[in-house]
Amino acid sequence: MTNSDMCALCGSKLREGSTDLVLKAGEELVVIKKVPALVCSCCGEAYITPDVSEKIDEVMKEYRTGKLLARPLVAGEIELKMSA
Ligand SMILES: [Zn+2]
Repeated sequence: MTNSDMCALCGSKLREGSTDLVLKAGEELVVIKKVPALVCSCCGEAYITPDVSEKIDEVMKEYRTGKLLARPLVAGEIELKMSA
């Protein structure tokens, strides 16, 4: 067994799952959903394999050159009401 199937943060076992990644493309934030990753069963930290990160690089390159269009992102807005 290698360290690659253990969480670097808490030492728990990793299992196959997926994660959402938020990446920066210039001034824009791009969210890549359902990225295959090894996810810690304890703290939820996600680890991406070199293969997947290579694929992400490709996708981001396409996005930057305008070949790929991202769907507009809906951001939640929360109002914090402070009683004075
Ligand atoms: Zn962990």
